[in-house]
Amino acid sequence: MAQRDSIPAPNFIRNIIAEDLKANKNEGRVITRFPPEPNGYLHIGHAKSICLNFNLAAENGGTCHLRFDDTNPSKEEIEYIESIKKDVQWLGFNWGKHLYYTSDYFEKLFDYAVRLIKDGKAYVDSLSADEIRKYRGTLTEPGKDSPYRGRSSGENLDLFERMRAGEYEDGAHVLRAKIDMASPNLNMRDPTMYRIRRAVHHRTGDRWCIYPMYDFAHCLSDSIEGITHSICTLEFEDNRPLYDWFLEELGVHHPQQIEFARLNLTHTVLSKRKLIELVKDQHVTGWDDPRMPTISGLRRRGYTPEAIRDFCERIGVAKRDSMVDVALLEHCLRENLNKKSPRVMAVLNPLRVVIDNYPEGQVEELEAENNPEDPDMGTRKVPFSRELYIEQEDFREDPPKKFFRLAPGREVRLKHAYYVTCVSVIKNEKTGAVTELHCTYDSETRGGWSKDGRKVKGTLHWVSAAHALKAEVRLYDHLFLKENPIEAKDGTDFKADLNPDSLETLTRCRVEPSLADVQPASRYQFLRQGYFCLDSADSSPGLLVFNRTATLRDTWAKIQKAQEKG
Ligand code: ATP
Ligand code: MG
Repeated sequence: MAQRDSIPAPNFIRNIIAEDLKANKNEGRVITRFPPEPNGYLHIGHAKSICLNFNLAAENGGTCHLRFDDTNPSKEEIEYIESIKKDVQWLGFNWGKHLYYTSDYFEKLFDYAVRLIKDGKAYVDSLSADEIRKYRGTLTEPGKDSPYRGRSSGENLDLFERMRAGEYEDGAHVLRAKIDMASPNLNMRDPTMYRIRRAVHHRTGDRWCIYPMYDFAHCLSDSIEGITHSICTLEFEDNRPLYDWFLEELGVHHPQQIEFARLNLTHTVLSKRKLIELVKDQHVTGWDDPRMPTISGLRRRGYTPEAIRDFCERIGVAKRDSMVDVALLEHCLRENLNKKSPRVMAVLNPLRVVIDNYPEGQVEELEAENNPEDPDMGTRKVPFSRELYIEQEDFREDPPKKFFRLAPGREVRLKHAYYVTCVSVIKNEKTGAVTELHCTYDSETRGGWSKDGRKVKGTLHWVSAAHALKAEVRLYDHLFLKENPIEAKDGTDFKADLNPDSLETLTRCRVEPSLADVQPASRYQFLRQGYFCLDSADSSPGLLVFNRTATLRDTWAKIQKAQEKG
């Protein structure tokens, strides 16, 4: 079971469970569940719910179930189920033998419905969907009883069984709970329990042509599994009376529903419907596009499960909706990657450098530390030769005041290598662009340190031209420009706010040869450039493709200070 990675932030549900245990409620059992509907890939908001449910169970010696809420036959797909299982496991959680499907309860749910009919608590309504809507009333007006509300339980039972047997068209009848058409809570105005729907279900095939509605199926699935704490997001607060009603009326095990605020992240949308739209309209390359807030997108981008779990712990769990800055997620990621990623040198926009006084044909294997944060990670050899590449932006012919990198006549350090001085600049005659630099090196500065104590202000990364590997590097930015892309109240589509520059592809990059055997999804810090990982989908033996996981610039501390100031 995954460990928590940082100090717990306030979590009111943790407190409720501690109190329940003190009072020996549920004989000390804690059984939670994560109940995704398999109609999309999981996103970082789901990760909050996964961490919450699995951690609360683990902390209290309980269990957490993974239950697919597959009551809606047309929307669910096997692909989604497989991706959800993979993502939960990758996050570090294990449901053991507790993998369930609501569709496995269809027979039991049918029996519960029959019991409610027999008790006079449910009836078959033959109004059309439109009429049902009209009869429901509004927030300010009570609803009206359906003319079919008074059917005898015998008649209801007969109709319901014939609904199941497939005697009626889709929409001809529904089964409704008989509660209160004047309830101030619209959910309690005789909610629909079953509808007729001829659709092939991915698990039950065409065995059923009636399907239970969420509110009826969900509470009873929780009850059947012996769930003690049914944790869900705030929008279900108004459904809680209905959750309680079904369980009360049937007199079955009654889990406690507790609502918490869903995660909202800046510059991100976290709704499956919107994410599906981005995929279908090809604004991204797929559910696992590294810009997507999906677990699969974050994984491909190079996020670690530890960083995501740490984030979910730090944001805490509260009852009030809020917006979390995506900079906090990135901060958790950097903290984790800084400790464990090996450093390597990669040049994203190469500029050729010739060391005039370095012997032609000579190659030196220089020693380079793998991670200054962790000496146990050891060292590697990096080849140095007469022709190198440095970063274009590390040279200025006319350096401004605070530019301490390379310029004509200036000496800088090449990391792990030598001091070099720029002696001449070669340009494209037509465009004036700098195409090559000539430098000299000081052979007395091997390793990048001068014996005479001479200091240089700039240290540059580099690669040996003959030894470096070609690579493509993809730089990512926020998918949305606005902090809250959903906020468009004027009816503007949320997609209007997509960041046109969220992906920049660099195809001429050169990386040091130690990356020849790099494994998909392994993560590195490219010195001075950020954290990168090999793209698991598009890399091939002939083409290294790296995703920038994060830059080195951590904005979280700054944001926090500004927030403290108010
Ligand atoms: P979406 O709003 O993205 O369509 P959903 O709530 O319909 O999500 P489900 O598959 O029903 O998706 O979600 C499974 C669980 O994850 C639910 O318990 C839900 O409350 C929780 N969940 C979904 N989104 C978030 C979020 N942004 N923050 C926290 N929990 C979430
Ligand atoms: Mg849902």
